Amino acid sequence: MLYFVQDNKIHRFPVPKRCGCIRKNEPLRDTIPHDTEECVYCMRFWPGEDR
Ligand SMILES: [Zn+2]
Repeated sequence: MLYFVQDNKIHRFPVPKRCGCIRKNEPLRDTIPHDTEECVYCMRFWPGEDR
């Protein structure tokens, strides 16, 4: 799983449809930094979704 930070929020990459944010030049990373908020659309478990 890869992640990126945008507007101080951590998102998954590739971004799920329900999030709708678009990665620009943000670097991809494989760890979650502690000083960011979680994007609920990317980071929460949503029932019924395959991960
Ligand atoms: Zn997101």
